Amino acid sequence: MHEIRFHNTLGGKIEAFAPQNGNEVRMYTCGPTVYDYAHIGNYRTFVFQDILRRFLKLRGFKMKHVMNLTDVDDRIIANSAAAGVSIRDYTEKYAQAFFDDCKTLSIESPEHWIRATDHIDDMVRLIERLQEKTYTYPSEGSIYYRIAKFPHYGRLSNIDVAGIQAGARVDVDRYEKESARDFALWKAPKPGEHFWETPIGKGRPGWHIECSAMAMKYLGETLDIHTGGIDLAFPHHENEIAQSEGATGKTFVRYWMHAEHLLVEGEKMSKSLGNFFTLRDLFAKGYKPSALRFALASVPYRKQLNFTFDGLQQAASSVERLRNFAARLAQRKFPAGKQKGMAARIAEAAEEFDAGLSDDLNTARALAAAFDLLRETNIAMDKGDFRQGDVAAAQEFLANFDRIFAVMEDNDAEKLRALGFGAADSGPSDAEIDKLVADRQAARQRRDFAESDRIRKELAVRGILIEDSKDGSVRWKRK
Ligand code: AMP
Ligand code: ZN
Repeated sequence: MHEIRFHNTLGGKIEAFAPQNGNEVRMYTCGPTVYDYAHIGNYRTFVFQDILRRFLKLRGFKMKHVMNLTDVDDRIIANSAAAGVSIRDYTEKYAQAFFDDCKTLSIESPEHWIRATDHIDDMVRLIERLQEKTYTYPSEGSIYYRIAKFPHYGRLSNIDVAGIQAGARVDVDRYEKESARDFALWKAPKPGEHFWETPIGKGRPGWHIECSAMAMKYLGETLDIHTGGIDLAFPHHENEIAQSEGATGKTFVRYWMHAEHLLVEGEKMSKSLGNFFTLRDLFAKGYKPSALRFALASVPYRKQLNFTFDGLQQAASSVERLRNFAARLAQRKFPAGKQKGMAARIAEAAEEFDAGLSDDLNTARALAAAFDLLRETNIAMDKGDFRQGDVAAAQEFLANFDRIFAVMEDNDAEKLRALGFGAADSGPSDAEIDKLVADRQAARQRRDFAESDRIRKELAVRGILIEDSKDGSVRWKRK
């Protein structure tokens, strides 16, 4: 087994990883803000933290992992006030959708799922501790954090706070680096907004204090790992450090790990560009949960992930290859005995798989180890060289592989049915297939064989076979 090394955003270096307390890893993940359905970019980050916890478990660590639901922030307050419903009523639907989506993507449940609105008292107490230590000041019913009082402010995200005017404030939860200011810990209510009546006054928590209070409540004052998407490093995590360390005087987090963003066809996702997808959007188009999980997991987390439909199709074929290989192994019709060198080859692949993941969770390297072995073993099987005595070791390799990647079980149809996509297992509609077949014909006519081949593969992945007849017409059928 290899030394585990992770990139720590704080300091910007790759460091050897070991938890502070024996075998237990205390980890906090900023969960979704449940003001809408989460998008595939969000799930890039959630799949990353799932791979991280699965890998740590595979390496024998015991996880104490907390994920929160941000069910109160600027957007939720605004949307629930506009809809005239309580915060709980507004967020419940999206919270439920998030849990369903996680299940569909085989994202494991953390040891603690918690909601911000269940922890208002803890946030108030943390603000009181900061008040006692004079890190705060009030203004018009709100309470602000005085960043000039915290000398390490800016260290995580490398911002220079020298030029910031003392007392300049920012009220919104989310802002850019250029707007670094004293930020709101507690916000006075505006007319019509939901508020809590507390010892520090009427109001609601700022987004940043939520995570500091909840993380420390469940995990103690020093966490091993804190994860999130890269956009959270500033201001959210910078502010979490200022709040937590201001109150305790101790290191808040030992390893900060951030996932780079997902782009769609090279562009930032946005509703106006029409490239904004939720999981449900993709499932409605006939794509499978396992293909999406594979696509999200396959790019190492510190690289931007360029999501494309081509890539999603390739992911679907990779999953298919893995499942076919497992089925081939399970057939048990190989000659008895062991193939010379095969046991060593499987052990070498297992080594390389672990080396990849130990190397700052390099999933691409781990996948290459698996697919190289798959290819070579398939060739050995084709030639009749593979032996029954090597089956168990190959299956064990796959089992370990799947403890991380979790795509082997053929349960996509079942998962889609659970989400209400009953019709999706029958694949694309006739109209959609006719259109693709026509597109393929057009591509062939202009001699764009790469495109026509791509369309044929897309159809194959979605369960449609096409037959070109001699007279030039095309027929298709469902597999
Ligand atoms: P939010 O619900 O906005 O707080 O975001 C939930 C998680 O998704 C956070 O960790 C964000 O950093 C992450 N995130 C947001 N957009 C993207 C994206 N395009 N790619 C990857 N992660 C993202
Ligand atoms: Zn957070």
